[in-house]
Amino acid sequence: MQAIRVYRFGEPEVMQLEELPVPEPGPGQVRVRIHAAGVNPVDTYIRSGAYSRLPELPYTPGHDGAGIVDAVGEGVEKVSPGDRVYVAGSLTGTYAEYALCLVDQVFPLPEHVSFAQGAGLGIPYGTAYRALFQKGHLKPGERVLIHGASGAVGLACLQWARAWGAHVLGTAGTGEGLELVRAWGAEAVFLHRDPGYEEQILQWTGGRGVDLIVEMLANVNLERDLRLLARRGRLVIVGSRGRIEFSPREIMRAEAVVTGFVLFDTPAEERRQIHEAIGAGLRTRLLDPVVRLTLPLAEAPCAHRLVLEPGARGKIVLVPESI
Ligand code: NAP
Repeated sequence: MQAIRVYRFGEPEVMQLEELPVPEPGPGQVRVRIHAAGVNPVDTYIRSGAYSRLPELPYTPGHDGAGIVDAVGEGVEKVSPGDRVYVAGSLTGTYAEYALCLVDQVFPLPEHVSFAQGAGLGIPYGTAYRALFQKGHLKPGERVLIHGASGAVGLACLQWARAWGAHVLGTAGTGEGLELVRAWGAEAVFLHRDPGYEEQILQWTGGRGVDLIVEMLANVNLERDLRLLARRGRLVIVGSRGRIEFSPREIMRAEAVVTGFVLFDTPAEERRQIHEAIGAGLRTRLLDPVVRLTLPLAEAPCAHRLVLEPGARGKIVLVPESI
């Protein structure tokens, strides 16, 4: 099978397409014929070697994917060959024609959801659910600011928060991003590159601020966010790419709760709830992942550059040439 392999951590070009044997599923394992693999920012942090948890070299990147179950190991009853599934984690990496997964890393993918969309579920929708509900305790009628709403996690937050009855405000860094965020139902959109955008947000809320912020770039926005929060508001840090200096007094002023998480550390029961919620959201057509770009597997280096550039508009996915 064709698979991307990484022999040393470094720049995107360390990812090379190679021929590897098709892996055989052991007991409790499932082999998935990958039709699309999701590209997440964390894949780039791992590939560069700048992440707290690194795989042994060589490895095949990719946490998310979607495809068709192709073989199952002893004791697997949850899925059968021929089933459409999305993959949230695997034993062998999803940037490949086949991925070996534990049975609890695969979930049903309804007919009406494309494989490219399925590849955008695991990390983005898992993160969105955890941020809004498990950590942010969002309630219907509250105002939530999705700070970085044009990306994969942001659009997932938008779809869920809106359906939950929250008033959603979203930011993006480009005009196209803003249009997308508005098209997916944000009541108000703001350009996060605009120096006056915080004032506009405060004005929109009548000076009261927002009840919850889901923050994609805390090292840039944390201090400002605290001024945008309503009293006793909550701030959930999803993304941060550096350090920040700020006055903790802002937390006291707002009596704010500031929290964060790493999706990979989610306890098993809460992980189970996340995938129950994704499954229900797909079946009822509430969730509808936005795919921005599909590239061949061999273009993984290009995908890793693009996913870190400004101008997000949903998910980037990789597709094996044989599909
Ligand atoms: P993505 O698709 O690349 O989207 C990135 C988002 O951040 C875009 O909406 C982008 O807007 C926005 N952004 C850029 N500069 C910003 C700024 N100054 N202020 C506010 N927003 C800004 O990435 P993603 O998959 O949605 O992930 C978002 C972040 O969360 C990444 O840093 C990722 O590593 C992190 N993450 C963390 C976890 C976790 O477990 N904690 C899980 C998943 C993701 P424009 O491009 O329009 O400027």
